[in-house]
Amino acid sequence: MTAAYQLAKAGISVEVFEASDAVGGLARSMKLWGQTVDLGPHRFFSRDRRVNELWLEVVGDDYRMVDRLTRILYRRTYFHYPLQAGEALRKLGPMEAGRCLTAYAREWVRPTKEEGNFEAWVTRRFGRRLFEIFFKSYSEKLWGIGCDELDADFAAQRIKKFSLFEALKNAAFSGSNAHATLVDRFAYPIGGTGMVYERMAEAVRRGGGAVRLRTPVGRVVTENGRVTGIDLPEEGFRPYDEVISSMPLTALVARLPEAPEAVTAACRRLTFRNTILVYLEVASGDVCRDNWLYVHSPDLLTGRITNFRNWAPELYGDSPNTILAMEYWCNDDETLWAEEDEALVARAKTELLRTGLVTDPERVRRGHVVRIPKCYPVYRRGYRDALAPVEAYLRSVEGLQVIGRYGAFKYNNQDHSVLMGALAAENVLSGADNDLWGVNADYETYQESSRITDTGLVNEPVSRS
Ligand SMILES: Cc1cc2nc3c(=O)[nH]c(=O)nc-3n(C[C@H](O)[C@H](O)[C@H](O)COP(=O)(O)OP(=O)(O)OC[C@H]3O[C@@H](n4cnc5c(N)ncnc54)[C@H](O)[C@@H]3O)c2cc1C
Repeated sequence: MTAAYQLAKAGISVEVFEASDAVGGLARSMKLWGQTVDLGPHRFFSRDRRVNELWLEVVGDDYRMVDRLTRILYRRTYFHYPLQAGEALRKLGPMEAGRCLTAYAREWVRPTKEEGNFEAWVTRRFGRRLFEIFFKSYSEKLWGIGCDELDADFAAQRIKKFSLFEALKNAAFSGSNAHATLVDRFAYPIGGTGMVYERMAEAVRRGGGAVRLRTPVGRVVTENGRVTGIDLPEEGFRPYDEVISSMPLTALVARLPEAPEAVTAACRRLTFRNTILVYLEVASGDVCRDNWLYVHSPDLLTGRITNFRNWAPELYGDSPNTILAMEYWCNDDETLWAEEDEALVARAKTELLRTGLVTDPERVRRGHVVRIPKCYPVYRRGYRDALAPVEAYLRSVEGLQVIGRYGAFKYNNQDHSVLMGALAAENVLSGADNDLWGVNADYETYQESSRITDTGLVNEPVSRS
């Protein structure tokens, strides 16, 4: 939507083909039981001035600053996220805390070798025991593979340089740290996170462009290494000079008419993980204070619970009830993916009661299920080797740009996808040679650092921490 929005603003004739019945993709919002909800928690955050300016241009004043409270639920105990060293060690009790500190001390004496996998990356920074308690079960639920099979890229993107040492330093000098994992106030649109993309779609239409819903693209067509257009299953071929694709990379490449066998074969090695969201309506306005909770308890299958009561009051209006979204992750061939809605709702209700967040089963009024295929690009070790030939081939196809979370097989947040869209539009408009594959690959630096506050954008010194 960002690419289309930018192109339409520049007067380019643009058409968007969206497979589903709404814009916004994974970041769309929807109405449920008289309230507005997102697909799980959607905190928008960027330090990139270009992204923040664009966001504010679309959202205007229609946002609220939300204080984030996120905790980890581990065996019925709540821990702040990101980890607060003092609290974690205290709540684990003296025996367990001792084990954690000993394991961490061992990392100073004989550091775990970093072999590019998630397990070693985290163990090196937190010690083995804390890895087992606070990282292992959640990550394995999410990715469906052992942490030693997961590429360290995941940690580098999401945990950045955070470590137990940082956490201890924070406990001693609170407020001195600006790591991305610690950002705890964020701007949230009053119409739900999807409001941003709905407004972009409106702007495209106002500018004379088209946004066609329920219109999946069958394939992108190329001839002699150049894009010539797209095929729509029900309408056939439509010619275009430039195509920007955010459909799953695997689907795009499998159907590209001129892609060499070596490239399609490499692409088949890339996999995605699915998400099932089970929404539950609870007859209470006070379930917990968190925006969302990470569920690390290994005996519960759910990995995250979002509480939409704690985002913006505009979402729930005058409803006295709370909507929670419980997340489950699985592959296509797992029985969970094929489970009926009724069974999923019953499972989620049972698990919710087991968390202790809700104690009276009568309060859980009703449930709703949303299945999201291909939600998470799996950074399995070796995925870069599979991606490299695909990337090289796609770079060579004139007039084609791939962007987005599953479009470019990147574990993007909204801000990364927004930036990719804006840069892709710039490439079309001015022939700029922006490297889209580089977005969300540089984990350390930002072009020009800025932050959205109650009163708009504030520039900050460039962060190179
Ligand atoms: C549970 C969850 C929590 C998240 N939390 C956060 C968060 O806190 N903060 C944050 O910033 N981000 C978060 N994200 C990530 C964010 O939602 C994504 O980064 C963002 O939506 C990606 O946008 P995109 O345009 O790259 O891809 P998508 O949102 O996946 O959009 C791709 C679009 O392409 C369409 N499509 C697919 N195939 C075709 C086809 N053949 N033809 C036409 N259309 C097609 C899809 O229907 C979809 O609308 C979260 C995501 C999930 C699932």
